[in-house]
Amino acid sequence: MIDLHIHTARCRHGLGTVAEYVDAAREVGATTIAFTEHLPLPDALLRADPAAMGYAMPASELPAYVDEVLRAREAAGSTGGPEVLLGIEVDLHPGNEDHVRTLVDSYPFDLVLGSVHYIDGWAFDDPSRTEGYTGWDIAKLWERYFDDVVRAASTGLADVIAHADLIKKFGYVPHGDLRPFYAEAAEAFAAAGCVVEVNTAGLRKPCAELYPSDAFLRELRKAGVRVTVGSDAHAPCDVCTGYSQAVDALRRAGYESIVVLREHAAVEVPL
Ligand SMILES: [Zn+2]
Ligand SMILES: [Zn+2]
Repeated sequence: MIDLHIHTARCRHGLGTVAEYVDAAREVGATTIAFTEHLPLPDALLRADPAAMGYAMPASELPAYVDEVLRAREAAGSTGGPEVLLGIEVDLHPGNEDHVRTLVDSYPFDLVLGSVHYIDGWAFDDPSRTEGYTGWDIAKLWERYFDDVVRAASTGLADVIAHADLIKKFGYVPHGDLRPFYAEAAEAFAAAGCVVEVNTAGLRKPCAELYPSDAFLRELRKAGVRVTVGSDAHAPCDVCTGYSQAVDALRRAGYESIVVLREHAAVEVPL
């Protein structure tokens, strides 16, 4: 089992230390895990939305986070695993690219997860802000979200697109055929060379399904997009949860392998 999407208490909405996650991963038999803490948000965003202090690691902790993960990698390497990778989850809403590039280029990350959690300053995945959905025509909201995810992929900053259909989190899904959203995004991810994660956290949310959905995974497979798996753990007990459902979904979509990323390079692993 692999799990390439893990947070810690440093993001201010998760629990546990790096060492506690490594122990949990060893207990469930994971072979490779990646820490992917939320990259500090830019000061301008934090000033405009003080609640965002609870969404990401403070800037002052980024060097200590990197050190802690690299030390855990060494320690796990000398005690029989699991393999520990250094990752980061970055917000790629329009206008945030330069901030992300500067920080990402400063550290030896194995992988960068690219995410869209914000639309026009609204953190649409925050359970305390769901009133924002009432102001939108849901089909228009999906168009906007997928435009932003496609743009995120085209920046070249993300090795992996995280929770690619996060906009469905609270069950706000347009009527009708959703395949055009998925097909266009899949083509864009393929063109950008991005990997897409199967994120099992959706199973634990109101939408109660994996990100991406079966229909989206089929379009990704058709477009030749490679995939990986992550739990989006925010507590040590989340590590590798939903892995077998992810593998089942990947097989249904026709996948026979996933990838692990080391120094930004994707390496195939048979399912
Ligand atoms: Zn995320
Ligand atoms: Zn995450």
